Amino acid sequence: MSRPALRLAGVIGDPVAHSLSPRLHGHWLSRYGLPGHYVPLHVNQADLAEVLRTLPKMGFAGVNVTLPHKEHVLSLADNVTDRAALIGAANTLTFQSNGAIQADNTDGLGFLASIKQSLPGWTASVGPALVLGSGGAAKAIVWALLSDGAPVVHVANRTRARADALRDQFGARVSPVDWTAIPDRVADAALIVNTTSLGMTGQPPLSVDLSRLTPPTVVTDIVYAPLRTQLLEDAAARGCETVDGLGMLLHQAVPGFERWFNYTPMVDDDLRQAVLAQ
Ligand code: NAP
Repeated sequence: MSRPALRLAGVIGDPVAHSLSPRLHGHWLSRYGLPGHYVPLHVNQADLAEVLRTLPKMGFAGVNVTLPHKEHVLSLADNVTDRAALIGAANTLTFQSNGAIQADNTDGLGFLASIKQSLPGWTASVGPALVLGSGGAAKAIVWALLSDGAPVVHVANRTRARADALRDQFGARVSPVDWTAIPDRVADAALIVNTTSLGMTGQPPLSVDLSRLTPPTVVTDIVYAPLRTQLLEDAAARGCETVDGLGMLLHQAVPGFERWFNYTPMVDDDLRQAVLAQ
């Protein structure tokens, strides 16, 4: 009987040592007994094009892409999914049998899947969303919320011009607001999302006035270190449902794993514990 072929995948970044993706994919490979490896690959920008052309020849089925390469890889791909083109960045590359590179963005899907797993039946169409931040992650999240039917996405960012740029990118359902206007928007938001790095271990706290926050507003933070951020604790204390940022990280990995290892993995508590283990 022939053995199934060994499959290879990895994550490309600079730096990359901090990435939790090898632990995540490694857990799935061993849990499902699949013949494969998933490795961290430290690649600088100057070598990126050459590395991406070489990896398929070395037997790699694909790679995740992390900072600072998420935008640059679009120009190196042979085909780009519609959502990656709309978001303007890719996190999942799949090498086709002829070596062609397909670029996709699964961050937004992962964000939605995480909330929907935590709160079955939840949909962004339920009401206005308030997104704090306008960096790379915010683009994928704004795309996801609009795709899932959010009637309006208010975006507040320290640098107002970057919030305005999201309206230019995604259209009139994106409504930039000043950082000082957050308390007004909190009152009528169905969903509040922190996409800034504030509140992350080693970063300044996120201080926003939540005095008008009440259920049924859902609050989520894509920062996952710490897992329970002050924003989530404050929202829970006000009786609101909260969703932590780890689920997004776990769910964004599913499509790549499916494509590279031909197996649909589960996102469950076992995986959360494996990824959080030191
Ligand atoms: P980014 O592109 O560098 O954007 C950072 C955002 O944070 C910008 O909106 C920035 O505002 C804001 N910010 C930073 N310092 C600030 C301060 N002192 N005051 C107010 N705003 C501040 O980063 P990113 O890639 O979007 O990542 C953002 C966070 O999300 C990171 O903590 C990252 O670890 C996390 N993340 C989580 C996941 C997940 O799967 N859960 C995925 C991706 C990212 P300005 O525009 O004014 O600079």
